[in-house]
Amino acid sequence: MGEAQVSLKHLFRVFTKPEHKDSKLAQIEEHLSDNILDFLSQHVVTKKTSLEEVEQDFADAMMPESPEFVSTHAENLLEKLVAHSVNTYSPTFIGHMTSALPYFHLSLAKLLVGLNQNLVKIETSKAFTPLERQVLGMMHNLVYEQDESFYEQYLHSARHALGAFCSGGTVANITALWVARNKILGPEGRFPGVARAGLASAYRHYDIDNLGVLCSRRGHYSLSKAVDVLGIGRENLITLPCPEQVLDPAEALRKGREYQEQGNKLLAIVGIGGTTETGHVDPLDELADVAEELGCWFHVDAAWGGATLFSKHYRGILKGIEKADSVTIDAHKQMYVPMGAGMALFKNPADANAVRHHAQYILREGSKDLGATTLEGSRNGMAMMVYSSLHILGRRGYELLINQSIEKAKKFAAMIEAHPDFELITSPTLSIMTYRVCPAAIQEQLKTLPQVQAQRLNSKVDRLVVNVQKLQREAGKSFVSRTRLECPVYGAYPITVFRVVLANPMTTTRDLRAILEEQHAIASRNRVWQELLAVSAPATLDQA
Ligand SMILES: *Cc1c(COP(=O)(O)O)cnc(C)c1O
Repeated sequence: MGEAQVSLKHLFRVFTKPEHKDSKLAQIEEHLSDNILDFLSQHVVTKKTSLEEVEQDFADAMMPESPEFVSTHAENLLEKLVAHSVNTYSPTFIGHMTSALPYFHLSLAKLLVGLNQNLVKIETSKAFTPLERQVLGMMHNLVYEQDESFYEQYLHSARHALGAFCSGGTVANITALWVARNKILGPEGRFPGVARAGLASAYRHYDIDNLGVLCSRRGHYSLSKAVDVLGIGRENLITLPCPEQVLDPAEALRKGREYQEQGNKLLAIVGIGGTTETGHVDPLDELADVAEELGCWFHVDAAWGGATLFSKHYRGILKGIEKADSVTIDAHKQMYVPMGAGMALFKNPADANAVRHHAQYILREGSKDLGATTLEGSRNGMAMMVYSSLHILGRRGYELLINQSIEKAKKFAAMIEAHPDFELITSPTLSIMTYRVCPAAIQEQLKTLPQVQAQRLNSKVDRLVVNVQKLQREAGKSFVSRTRLECPVYGAYPITVFRVVLANPMTTTRDLRAILEEQHAIASRNRVWQELLAVSAPATLDQA
């Protein structure tokens, strides 16, 4: 059924001629541009709850032998793929950083594919290259606030880069630490630098055992990937516990010194401008001073939280970010740009030269090809989405969006605190918070129990939280994520908590109330809830 003819003549049509206006794909397109929310609520049905069931639709590894009509294929996509996707546009999907997007991105995405520019080199991108450089300049300005003459000098300079545009925070973090590594183990005397000679020679030349990166335990796992990729090794990602939720500068200094005294070199301190799990912001200003004292690079991972800088009211939370040698910001998080838009920004526009590469057929000496200083090669023009968003929303538009997220988070936190059977675990600095469901009677008991017993009881509450989170997700009305954290109230062992990211501007306080009520209903019907209350009499606790 639906088998298309195999002839070049027919295949050429796929390149040149769209299908009829009433074909399935055209219908999908029209529905999407007409009303995305309606499209999603109609087609994303998620009737299959388990991933294993969905896997049945993608079970064989046979290469399709013959061509298929686009329309037939579109049906197939709707049925197998779209139906079991996740409706990230839903205002009650508040578990992750991925959310609804402004509608204009759909049309821009079409323009992007229509033009199919490759930003690795000017020969395949032309205007997109200066556009991307301008976007990096605007974001650099947001962080570092240099004067006009600075940007005049560097924005389009072939020998400088204000940043590197990339696919996301992971690559941005790797890029920033790559630059840092190549600078810290740079050329010296007859030593040509780590980029040419490799790590083993560099360690010998600099007479060090290891190179390390220091951050808090809340650091994103991409930092662990970064030290792995850069050859430094995961054991040299020094993660400090953060009982106060943020990296303690005095402790960072002490640990950094200790590491150096053991014959190692500290590559960088990474401060986090909005942790992925709890949204906390490290004391960036003080950490910058610590990095200076230790003589290492200071990187700020503000992949998620960086957009707070748009808000005059809240940007002070990130105070000190302007002292960072490099900063990661993801546009595909709080800037509401589709995925694939991250940036590493460099305070010093000459720093990117530490990773500059040349090739004969492109990226020639003196060219403005962006690919000379990016980790990725072929790359699409996502910078256009950022450019357009910055224009369409403006700084003031972003400011409103950021402010309302933070204020809504505060309201939700108050709602949680006011509910006897919920416990706020980390209150929102920005618009992420964690909390858990726990019967009021158990909360009372936990206050007085000795640690060992409290821990045992808490592990039962953990089970309740896990059950509720899973059941809520399976019910499909709303979604909250979960994680495990050490929190100040319960000391040195981790507990399981719900994690909320308020990303979608369309989420209302009514949605939030409904989510709490749904969780409460699921929890109080759960077997673990009954078990908790049954063992809550102190006499029987030992068997709990
Ligand atoms: C999301 C995030 C990252 C990773 O970014 P990707 O775009 O997912 O690669 C890194 N650090 C922090 C703090 C993040 O929130």
